[in-house]
Amino acid sequence: MDFVKNRVMQFPRDVYVGHEVLHNLIPIAKNYTKNRKISIITGHNSYGIIGKQIAELLSQENFEVEVLITGDATELNVREAINFIKDKRSGLVIGIGGGSKIDIAKIVSKALKIPHISFPTIPSHDGIASPRATIKREGGYVSEQAVMPIAIIADTSIMVKAPFRYLASGAADVISNITAVLDWKLAARVVGEEYSSSAATLSEYASTELIEKAHLIQPGIEEAVWLVVKQILASGTAMAIASSSRPASGSEHLFAHSLEKHGSGNAMHGEQCAMGSVVSLYMHGGDWQKLVRTYSKFGLSIKAEDYGISASDAVEALRTAHSIRPDRYTIFGTVDLSEGAARRSLEITGII
Ligand SMILES: [Zn+2]
Repeated sequence: MDFVKNRVMQFPRDVYVGHEVLHNLIPIAKNYTKNRKISIITGHNSYGIIGKQIAELLSQENFEVEVLITGDATELNVREAINFIKDKRSGLVIGIGGGSKIDIAKIVSKALKIPHISFPTIPSHDGIASPRATIKREGGYVSEQAVMPIAIIADTSIMVKAPFRYLASGAADVISNITAVLDWKLAARVVGEEYSSSAATLSEYASTELIEKAHLIQPGIEEAVWLVVKQILASGTAMAIASSSRPASGSEHLFAHSLEKHGSGNAMHGEQCAMGSVVSLYMHGGDWQKLVRTYSKFGLSIKAEDYGISASDAVEALRTAHSIRPDRYTIFGTVDLSEGAARRSLEITGII
């Protein structure tokens, strides 16, 4: 048979991570904008924390800077951002914030074919360094292929000021790669899905690093942010190699998205993934107790009630999680789980 394999991999060109890397923004901006017109997409909080300062820095360097303060990554906000940037004729977009502002920047970047820079202010999930965007469309959040940021500036001295819960959530998002990779291997065996061992190994490495160093993930320590953000970047690279979110998104993410649909209380994305990874690892026959202990080392609970999620919502979310993304084969299979099976798995693992 002829050789027919091919894959496109997009990587960021410049990645700055660590203490006070903010100052690298000016030379990067000079490199990547032809018309010196820059749009910043940010939220109220991030604008106060650093967005305003960045806008002033760029203005002093004679860039024409426009700031769009927006909200969640909803279809409406995405459309507004596209129109705003079209109108301002910006040659570069900078997404400054947690997840949603960077997601909006990614989608705008794809729609208008202009580069964007990811400038995370909180290390809450692995979207800060990936070509995927999570957008709220009718019926809940969906993960979409967008474009990789041309540059990532992850300043740990800024991110350490964010509430610790965000860092714990970001760490959990990466640790939960462990079940994403198991699901991928399962899909390769069972349905013959294309599998990349280089992407899977890198994703597993990111997860293992944080499992081994979980006790170092503590509040108010910039090195803890460094530790987690490095593995967030590794996770993003794994997705770039695979040209898919597959290495970092399996059944645990299906459960997280299903929770969003059925009632996720106040649980953040990484916290939802943590619960998902525990129940998924249980179903895979892995050492799920070790995973629970790992999360507890940095104070992350896997109990649904701690997030205001009812047992019945958690059961329903698990039962139907497979239907969130039918093309993504995982341990959850292709039909609804029985209520008894879902309840039993959640009860044994202590989630409900
Ligand atoms: Zn995630």
